[in-house]
Amino acid sequence: MNRVYNFAAGPSVMPQAVLEKAAAEMLNYNNTGMSVMEMSHRSKAYQAIFDETEAVLRRLMNIPETYSVLFLQGGATGQFAAIPMNLLKTSADYIDSGNFAHIAYGEAKKYGNVRCVASSREDNYSHIPVWNTADFDPNADYLYITTNNTIFGTRYATLPETGNVPLVADMSSNILSEVYDVNRIGVIYAGAQKNVGPAGLTIVIVRKDLLGHAQATCPKVFDWTVMTDKGSMMNTPPTYAIYMAGLCMKWLEDQGGVAAIEKVNIEKSAILYDLLDNSSFYRAPVEKNSRSRMNVTFTTPDPDTDALFVKEAAALGMVNLKGHRLVGGIRASIYNAMPVEGVKALAEFMQKFEL
Ligand SMILES: *Cc1c(COP(=O)(O)O)cnc(C)c1O
Repeated sequence: MNRVYNFAAGPSVMPQAVLEKAAAEMLNYNNTGMSVMEMSHRSKAYQAIFDETEAVLRRLMNIPETYSVLFLQGGATGQFAAIPMNLLKTSADYIDSGNFAHIAYGEAKKYGNVRCVASSREDNYSHIPVWNTADFDPNADYLYITTNNTIFGTRYATLPETGNVPLVADMSSNILSEVYDVNRIGVIYAGAQKNVGPAGLTIVIVRKDLLGHAQATCPKVFDWTVMTDKGSMMNTPPTYAIYMAGLCMKWLEDQGGVAAIEKVNIEKSAILYDLLDNSSFYRAPVEKNSRSRMNVTFTTPDPDTDALFVKEAAALGMVNLKGHRLVGGIRASIYNAMPVEGVKALAEFMQKFEL
């Protein structure tokens, strides 16, 4: 069977070259006589894979030594709780830019005093919330944002200025898709299954001076300080997912790194947004300055036609285009691994479908 163009929001498309390499190494990794899946996480062979994966990520994102890089489990959702458990002493501020931000805010309330300082919930999250820096608590333990809102298709074009308050960023759906200055952010975290690799791995990048403040009841598996001391191996890490993420990151390096793929991502999303802007048939609900480069959301004139669009596209090998149930319509997730050809094929179909 031919491979499809997979526009799923996550788990999502992976580079074909990576899947082929993993397949080739499946039974016998680097003459060890076993699959990476079968290796002890304490073995030399596995530690080399782990160390190389961290090194590639540090190179790709230009992560300084003053930051700890953790490879954990529990998903982004686990970190919704881990963040307050590791950082919250007095109070924290949240910007509510989408469903995941809203859930993170709700979860944090269990662990202490948190405030919502800006929200676009009333507008069904069709834009990044407008914030007023004066509303931020200058003594907050952190300010929380979601850099790319996967369900609604929005993205922060600029990051809030927080002074000495550490910024905590959920980058689950746009990490490694564009250049960020890590030094501006206290904690970056992401579930791997959108833009980094397979599900099962959660990446946490934390500035080391923020360690050492975990609440007493914080489980050890979520304690960034314990995990930093143990090199992410307080217990068994998601060994195979880390290996696969490493292969994807090396593939990204081969593409020229994050700055190079950012250009491609701008180009890919522009193909779709230009078409949407020039059409009276399709509607793009997101305000222009909030548009995501990873998740492009749009509708046809009515829900029945949306469903027909999704069905006809699937018959042509363009799958998983149905929008999230909270938004309806159509969503094309076009992460790093989605080739330009896939986006062009979708655009061509969109034009034909409109006629
Ligand atoms: C998918 C996603 C999550 C949830 O991730 P899980 O790994 O399923 O817990 C959280 N935040 C964002 C921005 C996401 O895209």
